[in-house]
Amino acid sequence: MAQRPIYLDAHATTPVDPRVLEAMLPYFSEYFGNPSSTTHSYGWEAEAGVKQARGILSEAIGCSPEEIVFTSGATEANNLAIAGVAEAYFNKGRHIVTVQTEHRAVLDPCKYLQQLGFEVTFLPVGRDGLLDLQQLETSLRSDTILVSVMVANNEIGVVQPIAEIGSLCRDRGILFHSDAAQAIGKIPLNVQAMNVDLMSLTAHKVYGPKGIGALYVRRRNPKVKLAPQIRGGGQEKGLRSGTLCPPQIVGFGKAVELALAEREIESQRLTQLRERLWKQLQNVKGMHLNGHAVQRLPGNLNISVEGVDGSALLLGLKAVVAVSSGSACSSSGTAPSHVLTALGHPAALAYASLRFGLGRLTTEAEIDCVAQAAIAAIESLRQSPAASLPCVS
Ligand SMILES: *Cc1c(COP(=O)(O)O)cnc(C)c1O
Repeated sequence: MAQRPIYLDAHATTPVDPRVLEAMLPYFSEYFGNPSSTTHSYGWEAEAGVKQARGILSEAIGCSPEEIVFTSGATEANNLAIAGVAEAYFNKGRHIVTVQTEHRAVLDPCKYLQQLGFEVTFLPVGRDGLLDLQQLETSLRSDTILVSVMVANNEIGVVQPIAEIGSLCRDRGILFHSDAAQAIGKIPLNVQAMNVDLMSLTAHKVYGPKGIGALYVRRRNPKVKLAPQIRGGGQEKGLRSGTLCPPQIVGFGKAVELALAEREIESQRLTQLRERLWKQLQNVKGMHLNGHAVQRLPGNLNISVEGVDGSALLLGLKAVVAVSSGSACSSSGTAPSHVLTALGHPAALAYASLRFGLGRLTTEAEIDCVAQAAIAAIESLRQSPAASLPCVS
């Protein structure tokens, strides 16, 4: 079998850490009980695993265990937060504020609410990807019920000033939701210090399993009212019905526990590797760094190259490295990434962009190999631009 390319797409997903898998395994066949079964030990065993994970997650973000609602991931958590608040507070107001660079799992529920009659302000960002706090403040109105701003961006890695946004919202009695899918385990989070009322989390970006996430829902000062989006057996205090999945939940807890224990060392290591990659790439003619140089995730490097076709570049690199591009495919006419567009780049610049996501398994040797391959691919495309390469996705 051909060797697989180097994996530098950690913002898309990460492998399950073997220690996480080990923690999950007993919950498939041995402790298989339904955590809602309160009349026998099968249920209690499963519930014990869930309880432990709930405790780890609540400690990780500084809330209490009852404030964690398990969901299928950050997409569902975002939908529950946004639609749930809109439905519970529409008599108070129908204005929501978010940012143009949010994940589609925030933007699309907001656009859906627009169709239902809500007003949504999609704030722009600066060239560095950061939100302008002054502009945010000006956008807040007496009928604003919710502000949703992500902690760390999944494309450009930019980390927003969450605590400052939180205090602006708290001062005005506006609920504040933050999508922390890329941040959990990588950036210190505390919902008290940050004045966050709702926070979306997911396991699979932090070496946990796919298909499990959580929404933090504040229960005091203030208590957030939320309309459930999935109704049924009344699990998770009625906010998200459906039988809990103990293996996934236990894996989620273990993944976050490990990430927190190793966070500082791993952050330093990834920052060094990221700098090593950028040092080699930055001297290439027409090379741009997308997003703030410092205020970003340690493992993120997002670049644009002038005058090079994005899909041709990906094609030239695909045997060496698994990365993501800012646009799905330029020759098929796919629009450039909404995030890069929001940075104010001309579309042509947005097309030839690459997102490198470094992770726990990334090595120095891999970084050097990818840097060399990228430089060679860019040079060769400049010498003989493959004008009409077929679109490969
Ligand atoms: C990955 C991601 C999501 C979606 O999370 P899932 O758990 O895959 O549904 C949402 N927001 C951000 C910022 C992400 O990176």
